[in-house]
Amino acid sequence: MITRFAPSPTGPLHLGHAYSALCANDLVREMGGQFLLRIEDTDSTRCKPEFTDGIFEDLSWLGLNWPSPRIQSEHYPTYWQAIDQLDAMGLIFPCSCPRREVEATGLGLGPDGPIYPGTCCNKSLKDARPADALRLNLRKAQALLPQVLQYEETGDGTQKTCRFITHDITPQIGAPVLRRRETGDPAYHLACVVDDAVQQVTHVVRGADVAPLTPIHLVLQALLELPTPVYYHHPLITDETGKRLAKISQSKAIATYRAQGVSALEMRRMVGLDM
Ligand SMILES: [Zn+2]
Repeated sequence: MITRFAPSPTGPLHLGHAYSALCANDLVREMGGQFLLRIEDTDSTRCKPEFTDGIFEDLSWLGLNWPSPRIQSEHYPTYWQAIDQLDAMGLIFPCSCPRREVEATGLGLGPDGPIYPGTCCNKSLKDARPADALRLNLRKAQALLPQVLQYEETGDGTQKTCRFITHDITPQIGAPVLRRRETGDPAYHLACVVDDAVQQVTHVVRGADVAPLTPIHLVLQALLELPTPVYYHHPLITDETGKRLAKISQSKAIATYRAQGVSALEMRRMVGLDM
């Protein structure tokens, strides 16, 4: 069993992160597996090295340890290889549509943001400009995908099989961005799916807020012929008023509690985990 904690260094870790990392670690501690760390720092406009250092400090303080972490910004060629693979299947197209234009088409919001109307889907990669986004042509991919995509979900304590009918989810997903517009960074879905396979992750422990993105990950796994791990989407930690903890809430940063003399064991209790 291999689990991972995969934060983005866009701010200090908060209690919700502590809960997620401890859940992933507890899962393998009981089963004798391996806990891995991955730094998802592909958003070059928002990620900062000092936040990465903070992640290492906070997690060490929580009592976690891990082999050499995977730093996504060091592995861009691996993600471009996956895009080449999808392009060879005729599934990649460049897109210069700004977000507001996609929103203006009024197709609504899918799990991956405003649903893309397919404006640029007949362009080919050789017409791509450096500032273009690269998108996955999901309508075209549908013919290559299994009719049903499924995964095992253990988030509510018992393992159950979740199924998606491919042609039902396609209109909601639209055409996921795999390389971001302007910065040319790999997008979250692509890097996440590729790395879960590279790191041989068997159990993905992550917040219920990203559960709606799972169909996109299943699609990419199927197209790239990568294994689908078991998913454990855990409930989100809320504050005293029931509000979800936001990363911007500096007062809830793990580092703030540390500075106040809270112990790692006390933090386990604060996030609702037994000793
Ligand atoms: Zn476009």
